[in-house]
Amino acid sequence: MSKYHIATVQSVHHWTDTLFSFTCSREPGLRFNNGEFTMVGLEVDGRPLARAYSIVSPNYEEHLEFFSIKVQDGPLTSRLQHLRVGDHILIGKKPTGTLVADNLLPGKTLWMLSTGTGLAPFMSIIRDPDIYDRFERIVLTHTCRLKGELAYMDYIKHDLPGHEYLGDVIKEKFVYYPTVTREEFENEGRITDLIATGKLFIDLGVKRFAPESDRVMLCGSTAMLRDTTELLKQAGLVEGKNNAPGHYVIERAFVE
Ligand SMILES: Cc1cc2nc3c(=O)[nH]c(=O)nc-3n(C[C@H](O)[C@H](O)[C@H](O)COP(=O)(O)OP(=O)(O)OC[C@H]3O[C@@H](n4cnc5c(N)ncnc54)[C@H](O)[C@@H]3O)c2cc1C
Repeated sequence: MSKYHIATVQSVHHWTDTLFSFTCSREPGLRFNNGEFTMVGLEVDGRPLARAYSIVSPNYEEHLEFFSIKVQDGPLTSRLQHLRVGDHILIGKKPTGTLVADNLLPGKTLWMLSTGTGLAPFMSIIRDPDIYDRFERIVLTHTCRLKGELAYMDYIKHDLPGHEYLGDVIKEKFVYYPTVTREEFENEGRITDLIATGKLFIDLGVKRFAPESDRVMLCGSTAMLRDTTELLKQAGLVEGKNNAPGHYVIERAFVE
């Protein structure tokens, strides 16, 4: 039996010349936890060419949404960036991943720290009603080089607080902290520097990470994960895994 469903592309949005998002149909039988990834691909020369993709859309939506890099000589994304409405795409039948709330011990504040396309899994988690029951405060940071790469910023700032079911709890508990590293912006700098200097906590008016209260999900480059993990360990936080919940969990946004 095939490992893939065939889905139909419903919309495509290009953020920049290196980033785009698309939505597609969803097989009713496809189940996933918010924060998980699945394989996404195209049929090339009669064979599937697929890569791991975090699912942007929450698991109660009828469609699926993905947020993608465009690697000019990348086997998949050199093709995927030309997707059009009505095209067929392959969607893996077995979503999985570590960025799920069950891998974290109970806590007060959930931090989701992302760089680049590492934002993708958190887009589904911030629209998960369960996460607002589990935590008193939810903080999402997104760091990119340039302002234009802060995909979904308008949606998060302006549309999300008006969400039909979650708007009130989002207004009460959710904080968004976008930062850029290579141009002027309301928040500037690498997330690791902002944590190390304490500026992140001062800006948000909260205490530094502590094992008693803070839970962290990380999704970014290998360097971002390495450096941030070091800071979390120094703060006394312990990594969680499937079947062994901890204070933080990590997922690579891509393999280098
Ligand atoms: C668990 C997991 C989840 C992922 N989720 C996403 C996602 O939601 N969106 C997404 O765009 N990619 C995601 N990726 C990366 C994705 O699987 C592919 O690498 C990407 O689609 C490029 O495919 P490609 O065949 O064109 O090039 P590849 O041969 O896969 O990659 C070529 C090179 O491009 C660079 N690269 C690849 N992906 C990225 C990226 N996302 N950001 C910056 N540089 C990159 C790396 O240096 C890589 O070596 C994820 C990877 C993993 C492991």
